[in-house]
Amino acid sequence: MSSEAKSSKQACDKFVAVNELAKRRGFFWSSFEIYGGSGGFVTYGPLGSRLKQNIEARLRDLMVKKVGIYEMESSVIAPGKIFEASGHVDHFKEPMVECQKCHIRFRADHLLEEKGISSKDAEKMTLEDVKAEIQRHEIVCPDCKGAFGEPTRYLTMFQTTIGPYSGAVGYGRPEAAQNIFVEFNRLFAISRERLPFGAIQIGHALRNEISPRQGLIRLREFTIADLEFFFDPEEPNCEYISEVADEVLPIVLAETRQNDQETPTLLSVREALDKKIIRCEWQAFFMAQAKRLLLSLGVPMENQRFIEKLPWEKAHYSSQSFDQEVLVDRWGWTEVSGHAYRTDFDLSCHMKASGIDMTVYKEYPNPVETEELVAKPILSKLGPVYKGEAAKAAAAIAKVPAKEVQDALAKDGYITVEGYKVTKDQVEVCMQKTTIRGKRYIPHVVEPSFGCDRLFYVALEYAYRQKDDRVVLSFPRSIAPIQIGVYPLMGKDGMDTKAKEVQRLLACEGFMTDYDEAGSIGRRYARADEAGVQLGITIDYDTLTDGTVTIRDRDSWQQVRTPINDLPKLLHKYFECKANFTDLGSLIKS
Ligand code: AMP
Repeated sequence: MSSEAKSSKQACDKFVAVNELAKRRGFFWSSFEIYGGSGGFVTYGPLGSRLKQNIEARLRDLMVKKVGIYEMESSVIAPGKIFEASGHVDHFKEPMVECQKCHIRFRADHLLEEKGISSKDAEKMTLEDVKAEIQRHEIVCPDCKGAFGEPTRYLTMFQTTIGPYSGAVGYGRPEAAQNIFVEFNRLFAISRERLPFGAIQIGHALRNEISPRQGLIRLREFTIADLEFFFDPEEPNCEYISEVADEVLPIVLAETRQNDQETPTLLSVREALDKKIIRCEWQAFFMAQAKRLLLSLGVPMENQRFIEKLPWEKAHYSSQSFDQEVLVDRWGWTEVSGHAYRTDFDLSCHMKASGIDMTVYKEYPNPVETEELVAKPILSKLGPVYKGEAAKAAAAIAKVPAKEVQDALAKDGYITVEGYKVTKDQVEVCMQKTTIRGKRYIPHVVEPSFGCDRLFYVALEYAYRQKDDRVVLSFPRSIAPIQIGVYPLMGKDGMDTKAKEVQRLLACEGFMTDYDEAGSIGRRYARADEAGVQLGITIDYDTLTDGTVTIRDRDSWQQVRTPINDLPKLLHKYFECKANFTDLGSLIKS
């Protein structure tokens, strides 16, 4: 596509329409507008905050409540040591180039991707490769057409100091996972020292993105939901796997991608595990739940896929990774969640750097008997020779492998260790039986990690439709930010008072309601459709005489009439998904 055709398509694509609507109706907008704004930060308005809470509630339903995962909340800033230990200080970097003319900086891999170089190839490149490709494709600054300088790698963590000490380096967390790893010992104690268990943190993450120009898709401050699930690698079975065994996952296999193809292979969870495409049952379970989450947000299965990451694309901590992607209008396939098998990488790193033991003890069902060669110093013989030094001589011998001691004694009749000459009669070398009752090990981890703002964006884009020149946000009813709008036909003759009573009744029943009496009823319906209000209740002249109201469906625009007294029962049934709108008519008659 020519660049003019591309920019004219972009001018009227869904990304523009959704962002304009979001701003107009108060879902979200760029922050700090009165000071000219700052890329990569957004403010969620009243409708957006509610929609985001509802999306996070769905995530909690599927990923947290179903498995009894612990939820926790900790700080956004952490001491530098944590991100040095986790490897982020060394690895959390992106290739960057700077325009020599206007000095704007860009993500080099994104510029290459715009020239058709796939992300799988771009991620593999060294800085030399990046430079060569920029020259080969004659890539210049998209803003001023200036030439680029040498590519560098830019650390995308926000760095600060903790308190007024320049040496006390701290970072804004680029993910919420490390907070969970560093608290492992406490969480393990809370779990009554039992595995498996999981902990999730849904909170803000900070990434100092180089040139964020993709709205909610790429922010510098965003909400991440990191779930770390700890288990014994020798007991990797997921007790709930049968609940998802038949769930079909569209997976673009690493092998397919190596052949420059993108066709997904449709595999049930059972097949993916049997064929060892997904190595860990818990990972497969969370991937199936992630697919269900996206379905519940309105994204059909054909617009979802999982990408198996190639070795060089995986994060530094991961042994097997899949990205869950959703097709969006402007950006094509876009990652909404990552699923990584982190093994014992993070706990091992923190154990090493902090010196704190993070292993857990496991008792064997049947103790194991072993026999091994041991060299036992005889203190009664060492004492007369080494006097006060005898214990040190014994300790020195104990450090040497028994076989080495045995061989030396057989050959020379003595062994010299750390300056102590120990003879045959001062040490006994023999076979010794031991009973091993258990062992200590470092738990393994699988991690599903969701970007909540991306979930928000896809829910909005998939809800967006046009009907008779009107915009309707057809959210699934479980996430509609306003469940019920209440409208007096006119704001007079007692209809407004009655409508406010109805709104109060429904609000006290726990529904999210809105009251609107401004403008014609048609305009109010149109406004409500655009805000994604699920149902509208209209109070008219008949209400004042017979106590009935109409319920209007946002998507079909159909209406049914019902007594006010029946509203709570009907609406609970409807919002608990025990009845559809078309069922309401017959429920009213019964
Ligand atoms: P990652 O740790 O890079 O796999 O990120 C986890 C999830 O966070 C991704 O699947 C995205 O949904 C989301 N995400 C990552 N970076 C950003 C960003 N800059 N802005 C918004 N969401 C992001």
